[in-house]
Amino acid sequence: MNIGIVGLGLIGGCLGLDLRAQGYKVFGVSRRESTCQQAIALGVADQASVDLAILAATEVIFLCTPLAAILPTVEQLIPYLSPNTVLTDVGSVKAPVVEAIAPLWSNFVGGHPMAGKTDSGIEAAQLNLFALKPYVLTPIATTPAAAVEVVEKIARSLQATIYHCRPEEHDRAVSWISHLPVMVSAALIAACMSETNPDVLVLAQQLASSGFRDTSRVGGGNPELGMMMARYNRQELLRSLQHYQHHLEVLIDLVEQENWIALKQQLESNHLVRSYFIDE
Ligand code: NAP
Repeated sequence: MNIGIVGLGLIGGCLGLDLRAQGYKVFGVSRRESTCQQAIALGVADQASVDLAILAATEVIFLCTPLAAILPTVEQLIPYLSPNTVLTDVGSVKAPVVEAIAPLWSNFVGGHPMAGKTDSGIEAAQLNLFALKPYVLTPIATTPAAAVEVVEKIARSLQATIYHCRPEEHDRAVSWISHLPVMVSAALIAACMSETNPDVLVLAQQLASSGFRDTSRVGGGNPELGMMMARYNRQELLRSLQHYQHHLEVLIDLVEQENWIALKQQLESNHLVRSYFIDE
């Protein structure tokens, strides 16, 4: 099967490496010619071009550009597609993407592989990024079952675990576990940098270890991705940030009141419920 990938960055690059390893023939399109050449050199694509016309021979196309470029890409891509071509995207927000693309292309399946790294761009591409990670598909009532099956089969070949949900449910759920953590982690880094004693700031930077690495990773990642998550999932992100603000205020109150018993109870509850989200 011939598979197209538009946007040869971190996610598009990782997909290309895995799909070629599965025996699929991969045709890549990216914005810069230099990225296309890198894609060939790194083994991300069999052929790569800045011209969408290269995708005319593909049966399935993964849209892996930043969120703002997905709709303009589909509009430019349509003249090259045959009616059976299946389009799917990997965008981190689903409702606005599905609402925009589904009326333009019936064989469109919204998707989101839940895997990432701090680094971005094709240089950060690696094999097996999606293995044992969730891969969410968000078909709607008009999405053909055959198109869903095609995307699901490819996602399974990446060793990912498939989930189906409505685009709006996806956006609310990922706001809690992905988009809110990016903002919380960004605020943590900014707060640390507000230390006014330069000697203490340097000492903190020297002492930073695994705890800071874990908690700062997503807030110190791809700035464009973080901004796009906020822009496209604004309502859900604001809702989760407001809940977070409330819980932060509760913790501040407990510390101010030296209510160590209640604080410990809260931390004990957190220790227990964390395992409902993450298995370690
Ligand atoms: P990335 O590393 O910055 O890659 C995006 C690539 O898209 C860029 O390298 C750029 O390539 C290319 N591009 C930009 N505009 C384009 C256009 N108009 N046409 C063709 N190519 C274009 O970003 P990413 O992390 O892979 O994210 C890509 C998508 O995956 C986003 O929609 C994001 O929401 C989603 N996603 C990201 C993660 C994550 O954690 N990183 C996880 C899951 C899903 P050039 O080098 O050619 O300019």
